[in-house]
Amino acid sequence: EGTTETYEPIEIAELASDEDLIWNISLQARIDAALSNGEIYLIYQPKILVATGEMVGVEALVRWRDPIKGLIPPDHFIRQCENAGRMSQLTRHVLRDACQAGIAFEEEGLPLSVAVNVSATLVHERDIVNMVREVLQDTGFDPHRLTLEITETYRISNYERAAEILNDLAALGPKISMDDFGVGAASLEALQRLPFTELKIDRAFTSAIKDNPKSAAIVRNVLNLGKDLRVIVVAEGVEDEATLTILRDSGCLVAQGFAISRPIPFKEILVFQSVDKKQSLTNMV
Ligand code: C2E
Ligand code: MG
Ligand code: MG
Ligand code: MG
Repeated sequence: EGTTETYEPIEIAELASDEDLIWNISLQARIDAALSNGEIYLIYQPKILVATGEMVGVEALVRWRDPIKGLIPPDHFIRQCENAGRMSQLTRHVLRDACQAGIAFEEEGLPLSVAVNVSATLVHERDIVNMVREVLQDTGFDPHRLTLEITETYRISNYERAAEILNDLAALGPKISMDDFGVGAASLEALQRLPFTELKIDRAFTSAIKDNPKSAAIVRNVLNLGKDLRVIVVAEGVEDEATLTILRDSGCLVAQGFAISRPIPFKEILVFQSVDKKQSLTNMV
């Protein structure tokens, strides 16, 4: 502070944008390198049928392990990717890896569905439709086993356009899921206007149902809403057995969370055993 008086405002603006440009170019280069050298990779979190504990799918979650900075959480670098104009590249990379993993799971006898996160900002452009079509063709992954989780739906600025693009994506085969349902403005409007086939109740609600009657009421009623709208409701952020039991009693079909499994590497998915199976195995020995 206090050093700006000597500059005219216009010069400050120009200086700032030059610096931004240089910063963006180096960030772009770093992201491009990270994408091609394996620093950016996926881990997978199981989704189970609440009634039986059977794993029916996984959500692919991106990780960046920088040799110097260590593990960078997606909440940080997704925004950076966006600022650097690399969201599309990241998403293509993630889609391809996830579809290839889906095929590999199947070859190991696990016909899982695979969910990929897609930022809402991408569903304003037709590019995403071509990207998903190309990746499905190139990898040969069964389109009906792919789920596209649309994140940050509150950032959708043009519902007509987004609805068209989501319809075109759905026509390729994937399920279209609304991620983090309930948080961020306009969740219900997005649900009304966009062709979602799945809702993921945000963990802000799920994690509180044991202790907060309001959260329990919201979750119960989102489950009913799902039934009425004929969309699958997935509860995310299930952190303990008690919550899983409440969800089971409320008729929730699919759940995901640390109580079931943390996100884990590909190889651990192959040997993953659900909570129920683990318990019945322990009972047997
Ligand atoms: P999300 O899609 O809602 O993913 C779930 C996040 O919650 C994951 O964090 C997961 O590790 C965490 N989580 C799962 N179960 C529990 C639980 O029981 N308790 C708690 N406290 N947390 C749980 P992660 O991997 O850090 O991802 C954060 C967000 O980053 C994701 O939220 C998603 O919005 C975004 N993201 C992750 N991967 C991608 C990607 O490939 N592309 C895009 N566009 N966004 C991504
Ligand atoms: Mg998600
Ligand atoms: Mg989510
Ligand atoms: Mg979330």
